[in-house]
Amino acid sequence: MSEETIFSKIIRQEIPTPLLYQDELVTAFRDVAPRVDSHILIVPNKHIATINDVTSEDELTLGRMITVAKKLAKEEGIDEKGYRLIINCNNDGGQEVYHIHMHLLGGQPLGAMLSL
Ligand code: 5GP
Repeated sequence: MSEETIFSKIIRQEIPTPLLYQDELVTAFRDVAPRVDSHILIVPNKHIATINDVTSEDELTLGRMITVAKKLAKEEGIDEKGYRLIINCNNDGGQEVYHIHMHLLGGQPLGAMLSL
């Protein structure tokens, strides 16, 4: 689970993907298979496999993910109506890509938090 994923290649633009935001800590781009009208992924540049692997040294990066989500929500025009931020962890959490990422979801009513 410590192997790099496709997200590292996107961050380095080895796989060309339009970036919505990038700085020294985080990168954001649209989800390739959007589940809702506005579906953006906000990813630390550093490879961290799961939330279980974060340390106190990552706190600045994790905070930056939130402030970038806020900025992008405004740019998407979804900030006032609302949106949801999700980070999945491991199998039960539904994590598919083992490089932590925050989903910014909005652009339509999102309904109940979970449908099991
Ligand atoms: P997870 O289930 O791990 O929380 O979410 C992984 C997300 O990454 C999924 O929503 C999936 O559609 C998205 N994804 C997987 N591969 C790629 C890719 O190559 N490019 C982009 N832009 N999104 C991807």
